[in-house]
Amino acid sequence: MDYEIVIGLEVHVQLKTKTKAFCGCSTVFGSQPNMQTCPVCLGFPGSLPVLNEAALELAYKAGIALDCQIQPFTKFDRKNYYYPDLPKNYQISQYDLPLALNGYLDIEYDGINKRVKIKRVHLEEDAGKLIHEEDCSLVDYNRAGIPLLEIVTEPDINSPREAYEYLASLKSILKYLGVSDCDMEKGFLRCDANISLRKAGETALGTKAELKNMNSFKGVKDALAYEINRQKELLEEGKKIIQETRLWNTASQKTFTMRSKEEAMDYRYFPEPDLPPFTISEEKIRQLKSALPELPKQVSSRFIKDYSLNTTDAGILTAEKALAEYFESCVKIYPKPKTIGNWLIGALTAELNSRAIEARNIPIKTHDLISLIKFAEEGKISNLIAKDVLKTMFDTGKAPDEIINEKDLAQVSDANQLEEAINKVITENAKSTADYKAGKTNAMMFLVGQVMRQTKGKANPNVVQEILKEKLKT
Ligand code: ADP
Ligand code: ZN
Ligand code: MG
Repeated sequence: MDYEIVIGLEVHVQLKTKTKAFCGCSTVFGSQPNMQTCPVCLGFPGSLPVLNEAALELAYKAGIALDCQIQPFTKFDRKNYYYPDLPKNYQISQYDLPLALNGYLDIEYDGINKRVKIKRVHLEEDAGKLIHEEDCSLVDYNRAGIPLLEIVTEPDINSPREAYEYLASLKSILKYLGVSDCDMEKGFLRCDANISLRKAGETALGTKAELKNMNSFKGVKDALAYEINRQKELLEEGKKIIQETRLWNTASQKTFTMRSKEEAMDYRYFPEPDLPPFTISEEKIRQLKSALPELPKQVSSRFIKDYSLNTTDAGILTAEKALAEYFESCVKIYPKPKTIGNWLIGALTAELNSRAIEARNIPIKTHDLISLIKFAEEGKISNLIAKDVLKTMFDTGKAPDEIINEKDLAQVSDANQLEEAINKVITENAKSTADYKAGKTNAMMFLVGQVMRQTKGKANPNVVQEILKEKLKT
C-alpha cells in the first residue's frame, strides 16, 4: 500500500531582544541561574507585565518576511497549566487572534520548488528551565519571560527531507532579519513535528502524532523517518494510529509515547487582562516592509547576476548571512568571485566545520585570505600547501606570507634546485623509470609524486614533469 506522508511543523524561536517580553530583565545567555529575574517574570502577585515593543516589532518583521497577512488587531491570552518551570501558572501567549496569519515559505531543493503555507505566527513568552540532578531538580528562571515567536505551518510538508529544507530556509531568513540567532544548541530554536500518513489519493487527514525533543534539524529528519515506518507498520497490520505526543530519543533513535490525547491538558485559554489588545496601522506595516533587509533568496539572485555564480554555489554562499557578507568583502578586494567562492565553499568551510566555528566568527581577515589565494594562483605555493597554510592561519592567526617564510613553504620551480631530488628519484625507482621508457605513461605520475614527497610538496609539479620527461627521453 502506498501512503502519503503529511507533516506540519511548529517552530519556536527566541527573539533577539535585549530584555524580556514583559519586564526589563536581561536576555543574555549563559549567566548564573536566576540572576536575570524580577517580580514580573517570577510571577509575584501584584506585579504587572509591560509589553516590550522591540519584541513585537521583530515578530511583525518575521510575519511580513513570511508573506503573512498582518492582523490589524491582536491580543494576548493566558494559557493555563501548572508546572515548576512556570511561576505564574500560566504562559502569556496568543490564542484566537495571533499577530500574523496565512503566509508561506518557498523552498527549493534538488531542483524541486515547493511552497509551504504558514498557518500562523504568534508571540509568547518562554518558561524557565528545569535541571534534573541525581536526587533533586533545580529550576532556572533566567529564561522565563524571554520572548518567543511561534511559527506554525499548514500540513503541507511531505517528506523528512522537505521538513529539513523548510527548517534550514526558515532559520536562514530569521537570521538575515535579525529576528533570532536560531542557535539550536542554546535552545534558541526548537521544533515540534506533527506527522500522519494517509492512503495515496485520500484527502482527509490521518491521525497525527506530535514529535518533541529533537535537538537538531537532523534529529527532526531522523525522528520523522522513524515515525513514518512506525505508523506504516501499524496501518499495514490494520491497526489504528493513536493521537499522541511522542518524544524522540537520540540515543536509541526511536520515539516513545509521552502522553495521549486523553491525557492532553485543557489550557483554559482566556484573554490576558493585564495587557491591552493592540493594533498596528497600515502605515507602520508598510514602513516595516520597506525597511526589511535583503533576504537570502534576493542575495542569491544578486550573486548569480552580479558575480556569474551558479545556483548551487550562490545558494551555499548565501545560506548564512555572515558568509555572504564575508564573500562580498573578499570580492571587493579581489574581483574573482568564482575563485573566492570555491575557497569559501571548500577549504574555508571545511576548517570552520572541523573547528565548530560559525560563519559570523571567521577568524581570518579577508585580505589575508586573498593574499593566500593569490599566492596559490601565482604558483608561489602549491594548492595543497595553500590548504595547509590556511590551517596554520586558523591555528596561529598569522598572515600567510609569514607562515610561508617561517616554514619555508614557497614552491620550488627552479630547475637547478629540483635537480638533486629528481636524480635521486630516478636512481631509486629503476622499475618505474624503465616502465616509463617502455611507454607506460602512468609511471610518470608516480615519479612526479615521488619528487613531491622528496620535496615535502614544495616542488612545482609541472616543472618536475618537464624535467623528468627531458631526462627520460629515449
Ligand atoms: P493541535 O490543535 O493539535 O495543536 P493544530 O491544528 O494547531 O493542531 O496543528 C498543529 C500542527 O500540526 C500544524 O503544523 C498542523 O499543520 C499540523 N497538523 C495538523 N493536523 C495534522 C495531521 N493530521 N497530520 C500532520 N500534521 C498535522
Ligand atoms: Zn523579569
Ligand atoms: Mg496548536
